[in-house]
Amino acid sequence: MFWLKTELWTAEVVYTGFGTPMLHGALAVQGGTVVGQGSLEELKARFPQAEVIHKGKALFPPPVNAHTHLDLSLHPLYQGPFSGFIPHVVAHREKRELRAAQRGLEELVQSGVGAFADIVFQDEVMEFLLQESPLPGIAFYEVFAPDPQDAEEMFQKVRAKVEAWRKREGRVRIGLSPHAPYSVSPPLLQKLAHYAHTQGLPLMVHAAESREEVAFLRTGEGPLAGVYRRFSRTPWKAPGLTPVRYLQTLGVLGPDTVLVHGVHVDEEEVRMVADSGSKVVLCPRSNGNLQVGEAPLGLYARHGVELALGTDSRASSPDLDVKNEALSLWGKAEPRLLVRALTRGGYRALGLPTPRLTRGTPISLVHSLL
Ligand SMILES: [Zn+2]
Repeated sequence: MFWLKTELWTAEVVYTGFGTPMLHGALAVQGGTVVGQGSLEELKARFPQAEVIHKGKALFPPPVNAHTHLDLSLHPLYQGPFSGFIPHVVAHREKRELRAAQRGLEELVQSGVGAFADIVFQDEVMEFLLQESPLPGIAFYEVFAPDPQDAEEMFQKVRAKVEAWRKREGRVRIGLSPHAPYSVSPPLLQKLAHYAHTQGLPLMVHAAESREEVAFLRTGEGPLAGVYRRFSRTPWKAPGLTPVRYLQTLGVLGPDTVLVHGVHVDEEEVRMVADSGSKVVLCPRSNGNLQVGEAPLGLYARHGVELALGTDSRASSPDLDVKNEALSLWGKAEPRLLVRALTRGGYRALGLPTPRLTRGTPISLVHSLL
């Protein structure tokens, strides 16, 4: 008779992809396969001979990188005030190309993610992701058009492209990304949001990232005023609202809307996000490099907002490994919340089912945070 040795893998948080992430949980493993899951005590009673192996901070199914810009993978890393970031991206614009996206996708695959959401700026990168991505996810076509005079023409152009790409959806689906409340004119934001909601297209918008963004929307002042003038002939009329309230009035929020960053929000805005069913992707390391502050995780959690994690691009983050985002917050937030954001929150933001770690799952799908 041949007995496979049983091991009990445990960690601070164990999440099987269903139920709630467990403290003092464990997975029973035989050979290369999961054979059981539950509390460590329960599994010790079921497998009294098994060796207990500590696997660090967390065990979970493949994580999700819910916000990348793969085509910025050849950009140098920017660290400095937020208002310098767009000029930095523009200054190195020749590096924003297909080769960068290919490099980024390789890095993403190597990091072990189960799915991803990317912001796509160029047609050839969209073609590449639709044809070549081995990972499921959403490619959000980015719209950057602050001048209201361009709204109608831009909308027609974007719609034609999106309609053509949608016919070729497979593993990768198409979404729309109006870049941010300060870089897409109000009429265009409204048109894009209405179009997305009626066509069932997911939306991803950078929002409430920096104090500069808040100042520009509320009063029209601050360093973003200068950046805006570089890209628009029409003077800016500040709506006099904070970012999430502004997006709410333009009809951007909704169950298929994902806000990225969400650093500068008050409690009423968090409630608006929760009530609308919008999800929020946090990018803590990028926020650190751009000196914008920290998102209020506890506040989001209290109001039941689904949170996900993303690395953002190589231009504001040192790598594309989303596990490092969770690590950067470890000890600052409830650990089960971070593990959920790393997995289930990400899959929900992308409209995908969360893979499960259960009897028969190969251990190659068990990921850990050390
Ligand atoms: Zn971004």
